[in-house]
Amino acid sequence: MIVAIDGPAASGKGTVARALAAHFRLPHLDTGLLYRAVGAEVLARGLDFSDVPALTRLAAALKVEGLDAEALRAGAVGEAASRVAAIPEVRQALIELQRAFARQPGGAVLDGRDIGTVIAPEAEVKIFVTATPEARAARRFAELTARGEEVTPQSVLDDILKRDQRDSSRSAAPLVRADDAVLLDNTALDKHESIARALAIAAARTGRQ
Ligand code: C5P
Repeated sequence: MIVAIDGPAASGKGTVARALAAHFRLPHLDTGLLYRAVGAEVLARGLDFSDVPALTRLAAALKVEGLDAEALRAGAVGEAASRVAAIPEVRQALIELQRAFARQPGGAVLDGRDIGTVIAPEAEVKIFVTATPEARAARRFAELTARGEEVTPQSVLDDILKRDQRDSSRSAAPLVRADDAVLLDNTALDKHESIARALAIAAARTGRQ
């Protein structure tokens, strides 16, 4: 069983994906970490974002094991990730390892922007998780300040809007809801309600409780 969870930045798709993976005992891949890992390397090595061959080599060398989720969730890395994710060659270099993860025996849960549309269009369960930009910014603000980052509510909202715009308007695998994905708008839901809704969607699609 393949479960595809897509949605914009700070929509809570990671929370939903982790909960479904635990519930159905499936491995989980947060595909944003792959783009974040490439973005973090670009920043660390001082590479130019227009150096497509160098960025593509970084992407091609990535493995799903050993990604440091904690370090990669820093605010600046999210912005760098969104820039490298707009480069078709970088996306292409990351497709096969995501598809291999999705198609492992028994299945998997993947979350990202293009899982239901490009990586695993055959997924049995597809959920598009979203919330208003203001709700997402409030969550990301709480997360970043808890990490000790110095941000303001306005700077976080600006960053979310900029990323939404870049992720949705790029030509390569833009953020878009798959026709057969179920919409889960969690603006007015807390974490537990959002997870309960996702479990109900998965049960309705697969017959598995
Ligand atoms: O989900 P997260 O915020 O960690 O993703 C970071 C960035 O990686 C996103 O803004 C998006 O540009 C990119 N991304 C993507 N496709 C995915 C996952 C993430 O383009 N499947």
